[in-house]
Amino acid sequence: MTELRELYQETILDHYRQPRNAGRLADANRMAEGFNPLCGDRIKLYLKVEEGVIRDARFEGTGCAIATASASLMTESIKGKREDEALRQLAQVQRMVTGHNGGEMGKLQVLSGVHEFPQRVKCATLAWHTMKAALENAAAPVTTE
Ligand code: ZN
Repeated sequence: MTELRELYQETILDHYRQPRNAGRLADANRMAEGFNPLCGDRIKLYLKVEEGVIRDARFEGTGCAIATASASLMTESIKGKREDEALRQLAQVQRMVTGHNGGEMGKLQVLSGVHEFPQRVKCATLAWHTMKAALENAAAPVTTE
């Protein structure tokens, strides 16, 4: 279990130091901003959605290791997925980080350790809620409060 935890930690640090899909997406057609005042995490998410499929995803922002790694993992995970599949993943992540069984999570399983740190749950879910807002094309910034 300790080894597994270390592996998870390593993956999170890797995504924090070298976030995947970082930056602006020039031809995005959905955008949303998210803010987690508890920690100060900020994210601006750009999506390119065509015919209900998320073709591309990029993000900008400043946040803690968990928030940044989660955004990186999220953009990786939702690319190529249908909108409803991406939203189903949000629900799974939400269950997992609150200590419930999220089902088969693949790589996202590395976020599961967050449930031991309730004050970190919003760091882990910020990017996911922002993704939902982007899909709904919400104009107002998302806050986790
Ligand atoms: Zn945070």
